[in-house]
Amino acid sequence: MARAVPESADGEILPAAADATIEAATPARVLVIEDEPGIVDFVRRGLEAAGFSVEVAMDGIEGERLASRGGFDAVVLDLMLPGRHGMDVLASVHKLLPGLPVIVLTARGEVEDRVAGLDTGAVDYVVKPFSMAELVARVRTHLRVVADVSDNTLSAEGIEVNLLTRSVRRGERDVLLSTTEFELLSFLMRRHGEVVSREAILSSVWGYDHDPATNVVDVYVGYLRRKLGTAEDPAPIHTVRAVGYRLGPAS
Ligand code: CA
Repeated sequence: MARAVPESADGEILPAAADATIEAATPARVLVIEDEPGIVDFVRRGLEAAGFSVEVAMDGIEGERLASRGGFDAVVLDLMLPGRHGMDVLASVHKLLPGLPVIVLTARGEVEDRVAGLDTGAVDYVVKPFSMAELVARVRTHLRVVADVSDNTLSAEGIEVNLLTRSVRRGERDVLLSTTEFELLSFLMRRHGEVVSREAILSSVWGYDHDPATNVVDVYVGYLRRKLGTAEDPAPIHTVRAVGYRLGPAS
């Protein structure tokens, strides 16, 4: 008798990644959203000295407009801004371009918890007053993370899995997966074209030893197919009778 899928804490929806890549030949472009001219000057000079190309917006509305337009590799964002509060700018930019690193400038105790609560690798903060070295280091760290993304992508059958941002695309469409669905898809992508047994999937994705009674693999393959596929373009995950599954072209 088939056992039910175990309860797990994996209902969360993971953010989709932005297409953020760095051209080696051109300097990384940083957008600074800050309204105090003294800080703007200090930050601009420091970032330019560190080799970045800098654009400045001096209020929240302009900052959000420029950031959303794309083309930046990182954003340095003050919170207390005229026009639109920095947290609102952050929320909107992060929704549109989740992979774009945003470094928030904050007064001590102001919003660290809320920024940290965003739970995303793309958002960081530095506490005012900060040193230029600290800000430059923070920007560099995040740019490095973004630059590494291309080495952390699995691609097959029009599906792209970003292991760093844990985002998935099929063609032009973002696919939101739970943690377990993501692990299952990554496993199948790594074995692209091979037939993999339910037992191998179970032990790799769930860490169980062979348990013929569980139907958890079939259930999760069902979830993945529904999320990856459409009526016209079903997911390329095929059932191999009495054995398991194969991700690949239909045979
Ligand atoms: Ca300010």
